[in-house]
Amino acid sequence: MSIADAIARLDFRPPAFRPGHVWLAGAGPGDAGCLTLDVLSALAEADCVVYDALVSEAVLAAAGKAERYFAGKRGGKPSTEQEDITRRLIALAREGKRVLRLKGGDPYMFGRGGEEALALAKAGIPFRVLPGLTSALAGLAGASIPATMRGINKAVVLATGHAAGTDEDLDWAALAKTGQPIVVYMGLKNLPLIAPALVAGGLAADTPAAVIEHATTPRERVVVATLGTLANEAETAGIAAPALIVIGGIVSMRAELRG
Ligand code: SAH
Repeated sequence: MSIADAIARLDFRPPAFRPGHVWLAGAGPGDAGCLTLDVLSALAEADCVVYDALVSEAVLAAAGKAERYFAGKRGGKPSTEQEDITRRLIALAREGKRVLRLKGGDPYMFGRGGEEALALAKAGIPFRVLPGLTSALAGLAGASIPATMRGINKAVVLATGHAAGTDEDLDWAALAKTGQPIVVYMGLKNLPLIAPALVAGGLAADTPAAVIEHATTPRERVVVATLGTLANEAETAGIAAPALIVIGGIVSMRAELRG
């Protein structure tokens, strides 16, 4: 049986994608296999796709003839760029297009999807949110690291490292005190600040830790070390964004679970 047959046998009836509507969707971590059916069907129907840097070509390939607009951040003035993106979404919708706003992972997980949805709501543009697999969960699974493991953890902290070292930074010591594994998005650059902050908060420097670069894609690389050594090891390996950092006993499962 083909995948098309299997889909046809599902009771899957995506809502109609109407002209003038915006669908704010999550493309997952990169691998086309991590797309949801809803998002795949939106890709098939959209007139235009406004996508972020994190959305892979493997996923965009499904868009067919839809117009493509790259909305990746170029650094410098993120808030102005964010306003440009929402302005574009609103303008395309007002032109009567079926607008697919595609973000990496899940649209409401550290992707400013909430802000975009708010702007659409304020502008009176009808929109819908289609969830995606967030990179932390899909990336861990893909790297043979269970997000929870009986006997190891009862919670997982999903944090952003982008504000590390600023006034808006998280209380890393408080997170360390939970004793639960921490997965950090956007943390690679600030790892040399985050790791010592966690150690200062009471997490042992020999806690297993890993970085996962380009999770779930053919470019995936995983570096396993300890909290104390990870920043150096990642740098030596030349790890670059996008990357996730994971700290906690669950990382040690990888050695046994890797196929
Ligand atoms: N909405 C996204 C996160 C956006 S923030 C989600 O749900 O996954 C951007 C950060 O996500 C990156 O800096 C990186 O930490 C992480 N990320 C996204 N895709 C990734 C991938 N394929 N591999 C590793 N990290 C990824």
